[in-house]
Amino acid sequence: MNKKKAVLFCSCSGACPSMANIDFWSLVERIRLDFGDKVEFLALHPRLCEEDGERLMKQILNPAILFITPACAEKRQEKLLKDGFEKANVPMDPEHWIPVSMASENTESVYQKIKAILEKED
Ligand code: SF4
Repeated sequence: MNKKKAVLFCSCSGACPSMANIDFWSLVERIRLDFGDKVEFLALHPRLCEEDGERLMKQILNPAILFITPACAEKRQEKLLKDGFEKANVPMDPEHWIPVSMASENTESVYQKIKAILEKED
């Protein structure tokens, strides 16, 4: 697939116990350094499922871009990010969205998940 890609992180306020082993700053920088040429942009919001997060999603989601969303568990994202996708008028299907669960993961394991998607989708 040669679609444009973006990575939209949700850090769950930065205080979620299940993400305690993730260093968001080093993770985002590593993705930027290693895959900056493969992604349109990287963004990080602390609460995508709140109203201000949905406003951001409305602004930046785009049907021409495949969004990879490292955040809570995939099933939770399916429910919690639904309104943001709807407001942006972008379908939550595999052509537009790939969720990545960061629940109970660490910096390295999340990096490897994102890397695998970016390499596979290239
Ligand atoms: S979308 Fe998931 S990771 Fe983000 S704030 Fe909501 S519950 Fe937390």
